[in-house]
Amino acid sequence: MSQQYPAHIWHNGVIKPWAEATVHVMAHGLHYGSSVFEGIRSYATPDGQAIFRLTDHLKRLYASAKIYDMYMPYDVPTLAQACRDVITANGLEKAYLRPIAYRGLGGFGLSADTPTDLAIAAWHMGPYLGPDVLEAGIDACVSSWQRFAPNTIPAGAKAGGNYLSGQLVAREARRLGFGEGIALASTGLLSEGAGENLFLVMDGQLHTTPISAALLNGITRNSIITLAKANGIECVERDIPREYLYLCDELFMCGTAAEITPIRSVDGRQVGAGKPGPVTRRVQDLFFGLFDGRTPDTHGWLEKV
Ligand code: PMP
Repeated sequence: MSQQYPAHIWHNGVIKPWAEATVHVMAHGLHYGSSVFEGIRSYATPDGQAIFRLTDHLKRLYASAKIYDMYMPYDVPTLAQACRDVITANGLEKAYLRPIAYRGLGGFGLSADTPTDLAIAAWHMGPYLGPDVLEAGIDACVSSWQRFAPNTIPAGAKAGGNYLSGQLVAREARRLGFGEGIALASTGLLSEGAGENLFLVMDGQLHTTPISAALLNGITRNSIITLAKANGIECVERDIPREYLYLCDELFMCGTAAEITPIRSVDGRQVGAGKPGPVTRRVQDLFFGLFDGRTPDTHGWLEKV
């Protein structure tokens, strides 16, 4: 995100100027990572601006809050309207939305019953992993950092604290000159990218790592599985050892921010032909087709602003 901040933000029920949406330095969430959040995109479609799977993202926000026993002071429809209001207030065309709920000020102990504060920001965002990556693909590496074990921190919650792991993976990759890092689970099998799920293409079939592999159950991942199955592309969720990153025909990452980003090499080894392959292209077409009308929205995923 550039240093050009949007004018307005939604904070605890009101739209206010960006500069006034502040957090106390003793807020619980700041000290202990006790926040849950979402990343959501809106697209300009032929029928007007639409937020992709807004309700599903907000449901996951509430699921993350439930895991951490975090009280949510608003219901899903109220937050859905607030998301629309933030886009409108900022006059955004193609936006990335960031709702966040965090334990605020009200106690310093780990188990303190602090109030939950909520904010929703929105800003313009192009491709997350750099310009041209959706076309050209990125070079990735396997991180020296593993994802957390399943009985330590729940990967199924999209919580602020989880992203300490993601930062280690992403920053190591950038430092070594790669576009993104891929992490193994504590089992030694493949997990996911720093902030993206993974798909491998082998013999024309899609293979993706299972939710037991310390990953976030991504909404883009679910959309791809659904679109693939509806369009005759086989898709299997299964444990995948690291070496299949080198042996597969095609490889891509997916997420709200990363959308569908092809991977052309891993650890310096070329993947397939070293450029986005036909299955990746087809999946990109189906996915981006949702936003320009080429793919019918049979699931009601496009929620109007
Ligand atoms: N894994 C992690 C760790 C993520 O942060 C994200 C982005 N939210 C994803 C996967 C992809 O999830 P989604 O498709 O729901 O954005």
